[in-house]
Amino acid sequence: MMMTENKNGQETALHGVYETVAEAVQRGAAAQINYQQYFSLEDRTRFVTVIREKVLELSEVLGQMAVEETKLGRIPHKVAKNQLAAMATPGPESLKTNAVSSDAGLTIEERAPVGLIGAVTPVTNEVPTIVNNAISMLSGANAVVFNVHPSAKNTSAFIINEINQAIVAAGGPADLITMVKEPTLESLQEIAKAPEVKMLVGTGGPGLVKALLRSGKKAIGAGAGNPPVIVDDSADVALAGASIVAGASFDNNLLCIGEKEVFVLDSQANALIEAMKTSGAYLLSAEQATQVTELVLTADEQEDTAKPCSYGMEREYHLRKEWVGQDASKILAGIGVETEAPVELLIFEADFKNPFVQLEQMMPVLPIVRCADFDSALEMAVEAEHGNRHSACIYSNNVMNVTKFAKRIGTTVFAQNGPTLAGLGYGGAGTTSFTIAGPTGEGITTAKDFTRVRRFAVAQGGNRII
Ligand code: NAD
Repeated sequence: MMMTENKNGQETALHGVYETVAEAVQRGAAAQINYQQYFSLEDRTRFVTVIREKVLELSEVLGQMAVEETKLGRIPHKVAKNQLAAMATPGPESLKTNAVSSDAGLTIEERAPVGLIGAVTPVTNEVPTIVNNAISMLSGANAVVFNVHPSAKNTSAFIINEINQAIVAAGGPADLITMVKEPTLESLQEIAKAPEVKMLVGTGGPGLVKALLRSGKKAIGAGAGNPPVIVDDSADVALAGASIVAGASFDNNLLCIGEKEVFVLDSQANALIEAMKTSGAYLLSAEQATQVTELVLTADEQEDTAKPCSYGMEREYHLRKEWVGQDASKILAGIGVETEAPVELLIFEADFKNPFVQLEQMMPVLPIVRCADFDSALEMAVEAEHGNRHSACIYSNNVMNVTKFAKRIGTTVFAQNGPTLAGLGYGGAGTTSFTIAGPTGEGITTAKDFTRVRRFAVAQGGNRII
């Protein structure tokens, strides 16, 4: 357990936060054995309830801490994400038992714990991923050792300490959630190799997912997205304009599910842009769009002309990290534009090869591509998603178009007539997850994904009551 100084200069313990991987793993593994053996399903429900209550109580403080530490995103949206993770992540009640009864006897299949799980979190959803993973994993009677994103380690340590204390106060074991105080790529490798760690769960970019899938252990990978939006000729453009601005500006477009490029039918484009402007978007001129590109992206020197750039881009563009998750007004100020009205999102007309169409920009700058017809919009949207199978969205009242796009793009989250956030239970029906496992196929992860199925068979017609 780490010691830290409180406001009065006294040493206080940070529960669950350890200097070494060995200690974080051993404590977590011991806690899990105790938890599985001596605590009931009712206990699990109680611990999940106190996690929810604690996170709700601290959601504003946590939002402020996260923005202060990571320098990314917007406080009200961080708070909303914390509340969503606390309230809409399903608990132990989501675990179902299967039963088969025949003349041969009774067989049941139960969702048993995996054991200690190693989990990696992104900087973009620092606290909500910890909260969501902790509720899902503890619901299945597991414990979890986190290798959190280094740029969010203090906020992460704060919430892990608070959650552990709340569980202990509710009569539960200490150390069901642990973390390494100084997370690095090396500490992740150590966690991945530890025999006590039975499963790995990674929420982040492609490098992380590949690393976990190479580990030789069961791994759940929740990777990058680049969600396209189609607006077809049957769409309600006023609704589309308002919803796209709301979705793409939420937490400055840090979310993996956030709308990253728009394909609109030519017949609707002008009306859509006007509707977006009414909802707080600022339309960049072509010259301003070039200035923003130079400000927030870098391009490699093109030495090898024989080697094509990624995704058909004309240059090999990369994000400048310091602009990821920044406010639209700050980006505008960076090109010398001040506005009186608040600006939620920067929009501009782009062609398909534009780097903002092809890259997962994670900033409130949204390209809009005009399309001659629905089929060309669909083909471009599918290509821009790059096979991530993550999220996509359509504004349409044409059931054939919606179905065609849904089938072709094959994303985990597919939203119609609302922001992709609706697919996470925010403005839409259903539960939430901050670990959306496209690459490994679990989708919107819940407690069942962090369990193993065990079968109990009573033979000779035993235990049947009919
Ligand atoms: P990131 O990949 O830079 O970091 C995520 C975590 O992985 C961090 O803890 C980091 O330390 C670790 N990491 C990074 N590269 C690694 C490697 N090669 N080997 C091992 N560990 C590595 O991502 P980020 O900037 O924190 O988050 C944004 C990315 O995460 C975006 O691509 C976004 O789409 C994705 N994301 C996906 C989901 C989802 O549910 N699918 C949710 C949130 C974020």
